[in-house]
Amino acid sequence: MGRPDPHTRDAINAHLRSNHPSMCRHWFDDIEPLEISGGTLRLLVKEPVQLKYLQRCCVEQFTEAAQSVTGRLLAVRFVGDADLVESHPAPRDDSINPEFVNGDSTDRGLLSSDDDMLISPDYSFDNFIVGPGNRLAHAASYAVAQKPGRAYNPLFIHGGVGLGKTHLLQAICQLAIRHRPSMRIYYVSCNGFMTQFLDAVQAGLMAQFRHRFRNVDILVIDDIHDLSKRDRTQEEFFHTFNSLYQTGRQIILSSDALPNEIPDLEERLTSRFNCGLVARIEKPCYETRVAIVKNKSNLRNLDLPDDVASYIAAKIDSNIRELEGAITKIQGLALISNTPINLDLAKQAIGEPTGSSQSANPTIQEIIDAITGYYDVKLTDLLSKRRHKSIALPRQIGMWLARKHTRFSLEEIGSYFGGRDHTTVMHAIRMIDSKRERDNTLDMDVTRLEDQISTRVVGTFNE
Ligand code: ADP
Ligand code: MG
Repeated sequence: MGRPDPHTRDAINAHLRSNHPSMCRHWFDDIEPLEISGGTLRLLVKEPVQLKYLQRCCVEQFTEAAQSVTGRLLAVRFVGDADLVESHPAPRDDSINPEFVNGDSTDRGLLSSDDDMLISPDYSFDNFIVGPGNRLAHAASYAVAQKPGRAYNPLFIHGGVGLGKTHLLQAICQLAIRHRPSMRIYYVSCNGFMTQFLDAVQAGLMAQFRHRFRNVDILVIDDIHDLSKRDRTQEEFFHTFNSLYQTGRQIILSSDALPNEIPDLEERLTSRFNCGLVARIEKPCYETRVAIVKNKSNLRNLDLPDDVASYIAAKIDSNIRELEGAITKIQGLALISNTPINLDLAKQAIGEPTGSSQSANPTIQEIIDAITGYYDVKLTDLLSKRRHKSIALPRQIGMWLARKHTRFSLEEIGSYFGGRDHTTVMHAIRMIDSKRERDNTLDMDVTRLEDQISTRVVGTFNE
């Protein structure tokens, strides 16, 4: 047992910065090494949301870094303040309270269910840049976080992909729980809601399901447009909504379309979604994009010169997620070529024309060819039921590429990839999205594959 050398943390962070640059955040500097005991390095993380995030997404990378820095075969464990007091936390009853992000084991706190709905410490109000396109949505979100159930109910935020809906939803959760730690907040994707509903029906556990969704102060459902076409879940959601609404609990929804424009949504739900505040997020203007790029690079402790930030913001004008992708590319190239970030390097990293040249979509066959070639997997394995990581990951990336670069539906993509159902495809897409955010190598692989399938299209054209 012993206190780690005070420089250990800095050395670990330096190691992470050079090996996993896109994962690193400035708040990693606040992580406090406690002790090395029984071959385990314990790291104290005071912010519950950060703690949960590290536990879920970063253990592998920290372990590798700790081992490399100390030259010992250490395990890494992130612990919170609560862990210091009680050494044996009560086992969780997942059937009633799926997750407690604040490490609390009573019936309170910030709950979120599925893996990919992890609250990201990045998605706070502090890191949300306000501009003309999102001013109303931001103001309404802030008001709701401060006065749940009393400002606007429901709050319905809609807008295109990558414009900050999930960010705002998670910021509300984080602020509300900070104001009142006793608040019960449940944050879930619409697919999570549907899956849990179907599981509960099958297992005959509807009472537990209802307890979980109706016994909260704030219910936050992301991507509610996925509710379309599912009659029984619409029915259940309708009752969940009413039960919460009538007792003055806050409901917050995000969607890619206006309530009336969600296909196959029952009238009674449309009208309920419309009865609070409906706020739209528009594409960000140039100034907002510059500010976002700066904010994102600050978060990563990255020193991005002004002209580079302006260049990225001018070059990428639609989806904000792509702004981040550009930062990742630039950061990656700077690391590989061991040069500081400047305009030349940025042009090299993201200078190639994007968007318009990709107007023709690749076929799923082309995507599958690219995947089998890139990962050296057999087609039969790719389409088989095998779940080994070496095959499952390429398969998930294939589904992700098909969703992003073709117009096929989730069902169609599932059938191409060995007859899988749409929820599997959905899950794959969300897995890849969240893995890309924290795994630089994977992110690069996907980017390379994207380049490949877009040049293939041009290639086929010339033949
Ligand atoms: P959506 O859910 O609408 O598809 P997200 O909330 O996932 O989009 O946002 C995509 C990315 O863009 C996230 O990294 C998010 O932090 C970032 N983002 C979007 N809007 C803003 C903003 N106004 N300020 C800072 N970052 C933003
Ligand atoms: Mg989203």
